[in-house]
Amino acid sequence: MLRGRMMDFPLTLTHLLDRATRYFPRSEVVTRLPDKSLRRATLGDVSARCGRLANALQRLGVGPGDRVATLCWNHQQHLECYLAVPAMGAVVHTLNLRLHPSEIAYIARHAGDKVLVCDRTLLPLWENVRAEAPGIEKVLVVPDAGPAPEGFLDYEALLAAESPHHAWPGLDEDSAAMVCYTSGTTGNPKGVVYSHRSTTLHAMALCMRDCVGVSEEDTVLPVVPMFHASAWGMPYAAVLAGAKLVFPGPHLDPTSLLDLMAGERATLAAGVPTIWLGILNLLDENPKRWDLTSVRSMVIGGSAAPPSLIDGFRRRHGLEVTHAWGMTETNPLGTLARVKRSAGDLGDAQRLEARASQGYAVPFVEVRHMAVAGDGAPVRLPWDGASMGELEVRGPWVASAYLGDEGSDKFTPDEWFRTGDVVTIDAEGYVRITDRAKDVVKSGGEWISSVALENALMAHPAVLEAAVFAGKHPKWDERPLAAVVFKPGQTATPDELRAWLEPRFAKFWLPDAYLTVEQIPRTSTGKFLKTRLRELYGEHLLKNP
Ligand code: ADP
Repeated sequence: MLRGRMMDFPLTLTHLLDRATRYFPRSEVVTRLPDKSLRRATLGDVSARCGRLANALQRLGVGPGDRVATLCWNHQQHLECYLAVPAMGAVVHTLNLRLHPSEIAYIARHAGDKVLVCDRTLLPLWENVRAEAPGIEKVLVVPDAGPAPEGFLDYEALLAAESPHHAWPGLDEDSAAMVCYTSGTTGNPKGVVYSHRSTTLHAMALCMRDCVGVSEEDTVLPVVPMFHASAWGMPYAAVLAGAKLVFPGPHLDPTSLLDLMAGERATLAAGVPTIWLGILNLLDENPKRWDLTSVRSMVIGGSAAPPSLIDGFRRRHGLEVTHAWGMTETNPLGTLARVKRSAGDLGDAQRLEARASQGYAVPFVEVRHMAVAGDGAPVRLPWDGASMGELEVRGPWVASAYLGDEGSDKFTPDEWFRTGDVVTIDAEGYVRITDRAKDVVKSGGEWISSVALENALMAHPAVLEAAVFAGKHPKWDERPLAAVVFKPGQTATPDELRAWLEPRFAKFWLPDAYLTVEQIPRTSTGKFLKTRLRELYGEHLLKNP
């Protein structure tokens, strides 16, 4: 074999940092602080502060491979941890501040965290965690609302005392850069370990025009928390491209976000559907209040973006939504919904159908969906848009194992990752999630897609949000139930909702009951918490036959 004669140049995050320092030192990094004022810095400032942070951490005893945890909102110092910690050869571990303190402690212990960087405003949370996380020896407090209290190290004071120069070590591209835990909606949280290589390649993919297309000209607003699968890699892509970054800090309400988008002229924003649902509602009420002409795309993922949301933004406000699917285990981007040129003559309804799907796989991610044959052997399903099976993926930014080797059943013998999502794949490769395996409603042996029903219900003019889940049934085992949140001042009767769904679905798919609720319980990453819905209302049909 003739081997290629090209350099073996490691794909590391250090290169992103170097590149930003050299080429984009004037790109802005803007953070909204707890008091709502804006902190302005540049990538040049961030780069110098990364040197100071690495020196400070080294002085505190952080060495290669050590885990430095963060308990932070999205802000400039969190970005510094994202860059400096991996570049110094250590591993940044983003703790999810929405979890229960004992869960946070479990995760910190499991990951072996040694040092913590914590927002001052989140110290009350840390106080409830610390007793159960004795491995964390030092806590650096980001003084987002006054200096660090007695007994803590002040992040800014530590940086001020250090030199901005740090001799970044040469790193193996396969070494760990970040640890991120799944949110545990399917069992104990499991640690996913991103490598320098996986994160770098993923950032490059995000920069492709047919993907999110992050460019130097962009102003990127990651609304998705930096503790949720590295804010979908958006901060890294922005640094790689030299884009302007805008961080919302703790202010995630629709008004604050719209103020920030308009005020900073954001071009790209990314967040989960709930965030955008709130924003769409506010825009509908105040269509002229914000100038959003700078916005070129809003990336939505984490759970299914209802077609009515995508369509509403486009028709009523001229705003484009990019729907994407991913998981903590996939660094996280896997598929993204864009309409191919070859689909050019599709009508509006079919284009919306493509844009509301989970899309087709991004380069280097491969997908297949599987069923279990009668003899128990796994079989690949056809890409016919109808056969439902579990989605499996593989690629350079897909996990090959969890930290501590838990959950080995999620990896197939031929080295694919089992996502737990039930999907169809059509002939063009568009993936459509019909459910998470554990949320499928199994009625008399037939599978009913809760996601399809939810999307249809959310298109009803009076409905703000709807979740469909399995209720116990004496005859059919399970039947779909709908929990519905109405828009303020609006309502619809169960008969009206049923009539709305009837033309769209087979009769046996229609929910047996519509329960009006004030809000739908959610997981820490904004997904409908169907286990809770089942606990609360799962016996509704047994009690109300
Ligand atoms: P966890 O698995 O711990 O809840 P993740 O954020 O990793 O946290 O969740 C990944 C899951 O989120 C996917 O397996 C899928 O079920 C769901 N998901 C992500 N993006 C989408 C999307 N665009 N449409 C539907 N479901 C999605």
